[in-house]
Amino acid sequence: MIPFSPPRIDEKIIAEVVDTLKSGWITTGPKTKLFEKKLAEYSGAKAVLCLNSATAGLELMLRWFGVGKGDEVIVPAYTYCATANVVIHCGAKPVMVDVDENTFNIKIDTLKKVISKRTKVIMPVDMGGFPCDYDAINEFVNAPAIKNLFTPNNPIQKELGRIMVLSDAAHSLGAVYKGRKTGSLCDVTVFSFHTVKNLTTAEGGAVALNLPENFDNQELYKFLCVASLHGQNKDALAKSTGNWKYDVITAGHKMNMTDIQASIGLVELERYDNDTLVKRKKIFDFYTHAFSNDKRFICPIYETKDIKSSYHVYLLRINNCTEEQRDEIIRRITSKGVAVNVHFQPLPLLSFYKNLGYKISDFPTAYKNYSCEISLPVFYDLTDEMMETVVNAVKESV
Ligand SMILES: *Cc1c(COP(=O)(O)O)cnc(C)c1O
Repeated sequence: MIPFSPPRIDEKIIAEVVDTLKSGWITTGPKTKLFEKKLAEYSGAKAVLCLNSATAGLELMLRWFGVGKGDEVIVPAYTYCATANVVIHCGAKPVMVDVDENTFNIKIDTLKKVISKRTKVIMPVDMGGFPCDYDAINEFVNAPAIKNLFTPNNPIQKELGRIMVLSDAAHSLGAVYKGRKTGSLCDVTVFSFHTVKNLTTAEGGAVALNLPENFDNQELYKFLCVASLHGQNKDALAKSTGNWKYDVITAGHKMNMTDIQASIGLVELERYDNDTLVKRKKIFDFYTHAFSNDKRFICPIYETKDIKSSYHVYLLRINNCTEEQRDEIIRRITSKGVAVNVHFQPLPLLSFYKNLGYKISDFPTAYKNYSCEISLPVFYDLTDEMMETVVNAVKESV
């Protein structure tokens, strides 16, 4: 079976993890701090905080901004459940919008239709690794009419004075938009290092801070370190040298990354641009070369004049194909020994959101794209021969 996206675990990774295990320090410590510093340098963010998942990072930032009951957060209907679940955790309402047919990303004209004085945050998702149009999103939240509608209900919201743009960049570490990398394109960007993502730490995530000048991003980083570790004003490392007494300044969460995770991340980040992304682009190019001149298929967009994807998910679509036909095609592909996937089931199709009253008929493009979508295997150790097998399995099955 050709797997869908196994992690790249080689001797270098194993050696770095063993180094951490033997160092006597396995939880949040020097390697996590170093990984944070390197991620900030890499992404161009003002500060980066590593956590145990992207989900934790999204929720932490919604809570920092004071999002709660009575508030609305705009999310695309086409995403993984984490994007909307964190809004629910905070007691606020996810307001879903439909997506663009070509990019699978949030569109500005859909934002205009759902904006209200309760809107506190927009969470764009860079589907498959292709960044949203951040210039347009930033321009939108800064437009006088939209700013006037914004109704702050705490000092932080007042200080920002507008809707916060919180990017779910779980797919798009290293993607480039108009010469800048994700992490530096909007207020706050959250990356995922879950096992299937481009850069993994087994589980993990990071919050990249890039708030405007009237915020001290370094001070906020320090506060978030505390808020993500039970509100304790000293972490385990700081307490480890006899400096035992600490205070708790808020009922914080427990979301910290361990040095074991960070050691995997450090090796992965070192070779990310020159090795990982080069290989992933090669796989995307291979698939596009194989499918683009065959009318049965629609290939994903992953490069334009201004934008370069991080080549996370190859979102192949089958032309004129119903959901049932797509499911049958997947059964056939699987029987030929190739693991494929669907990214994603739009949220209104899932029981929890359906039961809250969200209707898939309100998101026709999300449904249309989902119905005919098949995500193909993309991972570092995928060989040319395996790619050929994938292409043949898909073409024969269709
Ligand atoms: C994977 C994923 C997440 C969640 O990441 P975790 O690190 O597993 O919390 C959030 N949003 C999207 C779009 C994802 O694909």
